[in-house]
Amino acid sequence: MRLLHRLRTMDWSRWLRAELAHCPVCGRAFRPVAVPLPVASGQPRRELGALCPDCADRIPWILAPLCKVCGRPERCEDCRRRRETHFVVSRSAVRYDGTMREWLALYKYRGAERLEPVLAAMLAHALERMAAELGFDEPGKAFGMMTAVPLSDERLAERGFNQAERLARRLAGWYGIPFAPLLRRIRHTDKMSFKSRSERLTDVRGIFSPDPLIAAVLVRRSHSVAACARQSLSAAGSGRRPPVSGNSPRPLYRILIVDDVYTTGSTMNEASRILKGALGAGFELFGLTWARS
Ligand SMILES: [Zn+2]
Ligand SMILES: [Zn+2]
Repeated sequence: MRLLHRLRTMDWSRWLRAELAHCPVCGRAFRPVAVPLPVASGQPRRELGALCPDCADRIPWILAPLCKVCGRPERCEDCRRRRETHFVVSRSAVRYDGTMREWLALYKYRGAERLEPVLAAMLAHALERMAAELGFDEPGKAFGMMTAVPLSDERLAERGFNQAERLARRLAGWYGIPFAPLLRRIRHTDKMSFKSRSERLTDVRGIFSPDPLIAAVLVRRSHSVAACARQSLSAAGSGRRPPVSGNSPRPLYRILIVDDVYTTGSTMNEASRILKGALGAGFELFGLTWARS
C-alpha cells in the first residue's frame, strides 16, 4: 500500500524532465539515443551526442573526399587550376549546405555560444581523418602545432571573437596539440562570398603578415631538432634504435591552419604562403576547415 501511495504521489513530470536532454541546436527536449558518429575521440563524441537525432541526422559529413588536395567530395576545378599550392592538403568536416549555413550563422552572428563545442566536435572528424590519411593513429602525433586564420582588428571588434580561433583552441585542447596565433590580418577584405573566383585570388594577396610569435616557434623547432639529434646520437652510441618521428620530442614541422569555411582555397593558400615564407624550410602546412562550400 505504501509503495502504491508513493507511486501515486511521485512527481512524475520531474522524473520525466530529468531523463530528457536539450539539443544545443534546436533546443528541443529529447531522450538521448546512441547514433553512429564519424569521430573516435571521447570528448568530441560526447559533444556530438548532445544533439537530438533530427539535428544529428542533418549533418552532411564528408566521408569520402574526392579531390586529394582540398578534400572536396566532388570533382574540383579550383585545385586543378591553382598555379601554386602552399599547403600539403586541406580537409573539411562537412559540406556547406543550407543547414550548415544556418548553424554557422547562429554561432557567428547571433551569439549562440552553445554551438561552439558542437562545431568544434564536427571539425574533429576532419582532423582525425587527415591524421589517419597521413598514417597516424592519433592527431596529436601527426601535428606539432595548430593556428587559425585571423580576422582583421576591425572585424574582430565588430564580432567580438574569431570563430576559427575559438574552434581551433577547443580542438587543440582535446587532442593535446599546442595552439599559437601565427598570423595577423593586415588588410580587411569585403565579403568573399559575393566575389568571382579571379576577384578572390587577387583580393587575398597580402592580407596576412606573420605574427612575431613565429620567432618563438622557430626557437622551439631548433630545440626539438637539437634534442632529436642528441637522442639519436646517444641511441646510436648505446646501440639502440634512434627515436621514430612522431614520438617525443614532438616534431613541430606539421602545422595545421584552421578556418571555418573553405570556398576556393585562396585564403588557405595565402595563409600557407605567408607561413611558409616566415617559417622557412622544414615546415609543412595543412588546412583544416569546418565546412567545404
Ligand atoms: Zn536538435
Ligand atoms: Zn580540390
